[in-house]
Amino acid sequence: MKKVELINVSKSYDKKTKVIEDISVTIEPGEFFVLVGPSGCGKSTMLRMIAGLEEITGGTLLIGGQQANDLLPSQRNLSMVFQNYALYPHLTVEQNITFGLHTKKISKQEMKKRCDEAAEMLGLTEYLKRKPRQLSGGQRQRVALARAIVTHSPICLMDEPLSNLDAKLRAKMRSEIRQIQRKLGITMIYVTHDQTEAMTMADRMMILNNGHIQQVGKPLDIYNEPANTFVASFIGSPPMNLADARIQDQSFIFEKNTVKFEQLPTAMAVKQHVTVGIRPEHIQLAASSEEASFVAEIENVEILGTETLLTFSMGDHMQWTAKWNGQWNIAVGDKIPMTIQPEHVFIFDSESGNVLYHETSLKNEMAMEVFS
Ligand code: ADP
Repeated sequence: MKKVELINVSKSYDKKTKVIEDISVTIEPGEFFVLVGPSGCGKSTMLRMIAGLEEITGGTLLIGGQQANDLLPSQRNLSMVFQNYALYPHLTVEQNITFGLHTKKISKQEMKKRCDEAAEMLGLTEYLKRKPRQLSGGQRQRVALARAIVTHSPICLMDEPLSNLDAKLRAKMRSEIRQIQRKLGITMIYVTHDQTEAMTMADRMMILNNGHIQQVGKPLDIYNEPANTFVASFIGSPPMNLADARIQDQSFIFEKNTVKFEQLPTAMAVKQHVTVGIRPEHIQLAASSEEASFVAEIENVEILGTETLLTFSMGDHMQWTAKWNGQWNIAVGDKIPMTIQPEHVFIFDSESGNVLYHETSLKNEMAMEVFS
């Protein structure tokens, strides 16, 4: 197990634009660390700098406490798995798995042992003599994983390894990769644009946008305490509802609707013009019209089996979604009384997007204490 540290790391491909700017983070030994963000935010560039496939323009990279900026990829003692499995078509599964070991001083016997172990772990034992074209996509991705496992490297880097698989297989592989990483105790740095992968796999994750860190933390802490509107809308499915509002007379006045409360915390009115955020699961059916915070005119209904998603407008280009447990017989055009509890509301700065107010942090800490 080894630690990976980035200190003020930056990267530019030309003199003008920095695609990674001033990134500092420590990835702990044995940690499953996910880099997540939209396409083009710099995730792969960061991973490739750690791997030694891309030069670091500024800052320091330490691997296991050792300065690694100028080490060759082969000197960094890490394994890699990419989206395109990069298997050799003319070699068998076994030869593909052990290919990288030939440059190391490893006996044939040891190679066979490691290959058999990895194949067993990944359910590939019966396919070892096949060629890659005789395998399904999922099996090919497993071969790529096995090739990383047999190196016994303390650090593994993965760049969107599941993107080519269908949704069902992706979910299965998520859980498998996580279990293997735990079993081997390796430090994992995993790149994905998929927030579900990040949420379900990470011990901690870093959310990147335009080459800048937006937030680093445990998935649930980030879900519960997003630092800004970017994180709030990137993490969660459906994402957090956001809309600009004026706070006045215990109400949020949106372009197309007004949400009334009995009593808003005074601290919430940090500014008159703000961006209000609320998670879909925190918009619920009101017990009666009198108790409603607002009335939503339903524009779309999606019944997903265990839950129902209801869409309605708060502004001209601002649709919100409510997520209710169960299957609800609601039609487009229905006017539904909804409630929102003030403690679930986030207030963000409309210009910077940074969080200004929310009440939940203290409660989360208390809840964690109960379970710890
Ligand atoms: P991600 O992995 O998050 O999709 P990348 O790290 O691949 O993002 O790319 C980050 C930014 O750097 C993008 O704007 C991309 O166009 C740019 N970029 C990536 N590779 C190169 C390169 N070899 N030369 C110039 N620009 C590049």
